[in-house]
Amino acid sequence: MASEQPPRVSAPKEKAAGAAAVASSLNHVLRSAGAAQGAKALLGLNQVDGFDCPSCAWPDPDDHRAKTEFCENGAKAIASEVTLRRADREFFARYSVTELREQSDYWHDQRGRLTEPFVLRENATHYEPISWDDAFALIAKELISLPTPDQGIFYTSGRASNEAAFLYQLFVRHFGTNNLPDCSNMCHESSGAALKASIGIGKGTVTLEDFYEADTILCIGQNPGTNHPRMLSALETAVENGAEIVAVNPLREAGLLGFAHPQKISGLFNKATPLASQYLQVRINGDFALLRALGKELFLRENARPGSVLDKEFISQHTRDLESYRDMCEASSWDDLVTKCAVSREKIEALADTVLRGKKKLITCWAMGLTQHRNAVATIREIANLHLLIGAIGRPGAGLCPVRGHSNVQGDRTMGIFEKMPEAFLSSLDKEFSIKCPRAHGHDTVNAIHAMHRNPGQVFIALGGNFLQAAPDTDFTASALENCRLTAHIATKLNRSHLYTGEVGLILPCLGRSEHDEQRSGPQFVTCENSMGVVQRSKGRLDPASPELRSETYIISRLAETTLADRTSIDWQKFRNNYDHIRETIERVVPGFENYNERARKDGGFYLPNGAKDRSWDTQDGKAHFSAAPFDQFEVCEGHLILQTLRSHDQFNTTVYGLNDRYRGVGLGRRVIFLNPEDMKDRGITPVGLVDITSYWQEEERTLQAFYAIPYEIPRGSAAAYFPEANPLVPIDSTALGSNTPTSKAVEISIRPSST
Ligand code: SF4
Repeated sequence: MASEQPPRVSAPKEKAAGAAAVASSLNHVLRSAGAAQGAKALLGLNQVDGFDCPSCAWPDPDDHRAKTEFCENGAKAIASEVTLRRADREFFARYSVTELREQSDYWHDQRGRLTEPFVLRENATHYEPISWDDAFALIAKELISLPTPDQGIFYTSGRASNEAAFLYQLFVRHFGTNNLPDCSNMCHESSGAALKASIGIGKGTVTLEDFYEADTILCIGQNPGTNHPRMLSALETAVENGAEIVAVNPLREAGLLGFAHPQKISGLFNKATPLASQYLQVRINGDFALLRALGKELFLRENARPGSVLDKEFISQHTRDLESYRDMCEASSWDDLVTKCAVSREKIEALADTVLRGKKKLITCWAMGLTQHRNAVATIREIANLHLLIGAIGRPGAGLCPVRGHSNVQGDRTMGIFEKMPEAFLSSLDKEFSIKCPRAHGHDTVNAIHAMHRNPGQVFIALGGNFLQAAPDTDFTASALENCRLTAHIATKLNRSHLYTGEVGLILPCLGRSEHDEQRSGPQFVTCENSMGVVQRSKGRLDPASPELRSETYIISRLAETTLADRTSIDWQKFRNNYDHIRETIERVVPGFENYNERARKDGGFYLPNGAKDRSWDTQDGKAHFSAAPFDQFEVCEGHLILQTLRSHDQFNTTVYGLNDRYRGVGLGRRVIFLNPEDMKDRGITPVGLVDITSYWQEEERTLQAFYAIPYEIPRGSAAAYFPEANPLVPIDSTALGSNTPTSKAVEISIRPSST
């Protein structure tokens, strides 16, 4: 369905934040929550005695926290959570599921908080209330009836706390399956796979302090202005301390160009600190070629002046396989590399100068712009190669920084949310609980969708998230969900996933991060792990949106108790009564959590061990590994374009807070596609004209009609559109090699003036 009106288009901004960010934050908070509720929530956000922002995973300062330790998007997330609006029993009585499907994601979010459990019974048209006891009994009955536990699919979104995630995976494995797909499968799985192979740990190696000491910061395939806005203050401080920032991104993004810090007087007057001193607009999927070209240039310089580039001592002591990487770089032709990345040789040389400046204190940051490509794992390993070459890892001011998109996505993985957890974790779980965890690998997200599609009658349970809108190939995913016997979602608000149900659908409303969590032993807190491996507590302070809400840990433990019944000797009630007991068991099962309860109570939390930070490599041979992947680039047919999906500024993951993309100059519309003006001219497409988009995958075609074409500064042959609107174009079977992440950043498309 097209936007009713064409979007309002203006010139993209050249800097992020400033007074407009403050105005936007206030507007969202006041409109949704009112002054009193909004202020109470914001004053607790990211405070040591408050609650963790449920939005991105950017870390908080270890020591000093400002009173307003949040960004515009954190404020929007909280405004959305503490809204005074309610999606209650009257609401669900009024709208049928069919009518709700007709509404936009933005409209769904605006309906407010869910107030009690709801069920959509077989052949019913409307959701209706159901008691908690009946809801648990219904799920348990369906799970027990499955022919095998492997017909249960248990999804997790990155908002779940450590405590909830640990209990959830314990329940699922005790039930008998490793089917634990999560949102990480769709975002940083490629980073985890690449880093584990290169440096022995699938996590980043830097802290905030490293940013302040860096000489050079590379931001590749990442848009901090919208996706992790407080990173801009770290980048600003880095620049003030003398660091040079290089942006590598197909689109020009305000948040990489400059930052007007809204908590400084100068920033409020829109005076910005320039950020990227070099902006390399690679063509989409040109990153591998660019990084390989950079490697080639560094070897050339080393050959010309031995000892000037390579950190030979580090390489000989800590790494292996340098030679094969060097051979690969030397065998690549300059012409080929330059054409493939669409960055000139001169700019690559300037990039090499910057990487080698100062004491080679280099940090490389990246996000979905790298991870959602067929060659994502190989590309991220090229980044690791670069750091290993100059020894820019495991020392102050240097290291690798995959920037995680959801607040506890890293912690959930640490807690065991993974379809193929290592044997050490599983045997530790067995020992702690006297159970036998299954060893066969479970389904990741893409395989889970296929399994639901293939085998009718499965049970799908989601701990948070909006599975349908986060997943690729929306129509295929919707029919997979509809093929289930039962779908159940633990959620704070209504979303589209709740409207494509199995024969029976359930919505189980839970507490938000900002809300008091009172259990039998008294008030509880939970813990989360941020993008830099810091675990800290989060304690809500607002009254729950409804007395019928339950905490995620409560819901999971009741579900486990009801489903496993006399098959379990685990005291689930003890866990939900007092979360300290959950942390006591985590401490015994997961390395790095010694004295968990004590350290979680310390303001600012604690860092998890990270061998690579100390140059200790958890690989089979104890060395960091160069990779020598053959050159691989996504190519499309003549006349076709490569489409990437992305977020608008009024959006966090799949949650749409508003209809504006302020930095890119698009207002009141989301059904848009950003195109190079020359590509538009070639196809007879006028600015803000309507186009149809067709994607191609093997013999398959998928078409979306009526998107507004926006001329934008993007390389020729590249295009971008918002998700989830463009997700129906992403083929389910197009995934990254080595991580199975959907390739949402590289979809072959053609466009033509719309037929509608
Ligand atoms: S940077 Fe991320 S975690 Fe921090 S306030 Fe903004 S959205 Fe929340």
